[in-house]
Amino acid sequence: MVANKKHKLRKLQDKYIAQFPGKLNALNRVWLKALHDGDALALSQLCQQAHNLAGSAGTFGFSAVSVEARNLENTLRALDKDQELSGEVEEVIADALQRIVSLVELGPEQIESGIAVESDENIPVAEFDRLIYVIEDDELLAREIAAQLYYFDYEVEIFSVISQAMEAIKLRMPSAMILDVQLPEGELAGPEFAMALNEYSTTSVPTIFISSRDDWQARLAAVRACGSAYLTKPLDFNELLECVDRLTLKQQPEAFKILIVDDMEVLAEHYAAVLGGAGMQVKTVSSINDLLEVLSDFQPELILMDIYMPQCSGLEAAKIIRQKDELLSVPIVFLSTESDTAHHVSAMELGGDDFLQKPIMDSSLVVAVRTRAERFRSLRNQMNRDGLTGLLNHVSTKTHLEAEISRALRQHEALCFAMLDIDHFKQVNDSYGHPVGDRVIKSVARMLTKRLRKSDFIGRYGGEEFAIILPETDIKTARSLLDDIRQNFSQIVQQNNDIQFSCTLSAGVTQLSPNDNLDSIINTADDALYKAKNSGRNKVCEK
Ligand code: GH3
Ligand code: MG
Ligand code: MG
Repeated sequence: MVANKKHKLRKLQDKYIAQFPGKLNALNRVWLKALHDGDALALSQLCQQAHNLAGSAGTFGFSAVSVEARNLENTLRALDKDQELSGEVEEVIADALQRIVSLVELGPEQIESGIAVESDENIPVAEFDRLIYVIEDDELLAREIAAQLYYFDYEVEIFSVISQAMEAIKLRMPSAMILDVQLPEGELAGPEFAMALNEYSTTSVPTIFISSRDDWQARLAAVRACGSAYLTKPLDFNELLECVDRLTLKQQPEAFKILIVDDMEVLAEHYAAVLGGAGMQVKTVSSINDLLEVLSDFQPELILMDIYMPQCSGLEAAKIIRQKDELLSVPIVFLSTESDTAHHVSAMELGGDDFLQKPIMDSSLVVAVRTRAERFRSLRNQMNRDGLTGLLNHVSTKTHLEAEISRALRQHEALCFAMLDIDHFKQVNDSYGHPVGDRVIKSVARMLTKRLRKSDFIGRYGGEEFAIILPETDIKTARSLLDDIRQNFSQIVQQNNDIQFSCTLSAGVTQLSPNDNLDSIINTADDALYKAKNSGRNKVCEK
């Protein structure tokens, strides 16, 4: 993988180098034109070309060319447009052009891509492991644990004696163990086994101890065996699940989505390769005409924008982007060779967030983009997510639904929308209290998150009401998926101290039709939910 990335950067560099003769020829042509015709337009073209060269050459390993081109650009900018070139100035320009040619002939310096390569190796293979070993001699309890975990998509193996578990571990490491303290092998056989296992294996298995014992000696043994949690029986399955989730969910955040807007394709590709190599998801746009469509489909978390583009300047593009509500807070970072601070100020006023100076080292680019994207994501999460469940909140659910509707209509794809509501939830609150109700709400959220795809959107639409957006899904698939979720949810054991109970939910689902809009699809799903409630609850209805 590492070799691949290097290879890709190398290929882009080759591509860039191959364009050099053409670029140098063009420089010379324009220069001759300026020289012979005293052409002011030719001089400003030369200035533009020097500017482009200054911005791109450094990126592909020609930083000396960049510096030389920048000097040339500055010389040209300083010229008085109405005056003829003096012999002295002619000489300065000719020398600069000559030096650029010689520097190009020297070939590239070592291409800098340390960060891109390094983080490539860090990408974990699996983002979520689901294999759990339960070592428990109470067969009934073991099976109940397995069933509860199964509803959340865990794969569970049960062992009643330690030797069996040991054999299985040699074959396949689980991502967590649920381990009884007292086993047929002895009073503290569980912790003793965990301790032995820690010595046997270099990677430790996160372990949750379960026990009917709540004494100091048992807890101490568990701590000494590096237990991650200690839960007493009767088990609270919600608590157990929270522990298992916490231990197995590798904190692998989703890749940042970065959009690069640069009319120079090879440069855009280079940036894309660098950021992609650092684990980001990147799209490039080299024609401004495609920008709005790509923006709404891709939903970037940061836009890296060239300032000088032929069709429209980056500053103008930023202005247009900021006119769209949903893009109001996406950070725009301008990439510019322009060192003029006055320009910077006007770009800030237009809603640009930041400036990076071209050429920029690959490692600096990665760091600059990552820190800004991180900041944006955490702010956006605070604004768009519900505090209790971490799901999308009401407003952002609707924003996403609207975007998905227009995408689905444009691309002629199926889209389903569903509303879910917990049945007789008021009774849960009334009987067991609000905090227990909250846990039930969280268990719905957890189940939905586990069962749906990454590309689906899950929102907490109201108190105990949820909304689900299923892109590229037809009604038949959506219905059976929801029915599966409904069934599993009813099997989940909810707990209040020693009392166990279960809850059900009802859902209404509908598929987008060509005449639908945001309000109509919500109303239809709501009608379907009403139908499910009225026909006895614990049902999925479609409309
Ligand atoms: P139905 O089957 O018709 O949906 O009946 P229901 O009791 O679930 O519906 P109803 O709308 O009458 O009651 C919903 C209850 O949900 C009322 C409200 O107090 C409670 N609720 C809303 N938000 C929360 C919350 O965040 N936490 C808790 N614990 N309860 C909440
Ligand atoms: Mg309800
Ligand atoms: Mg309700």
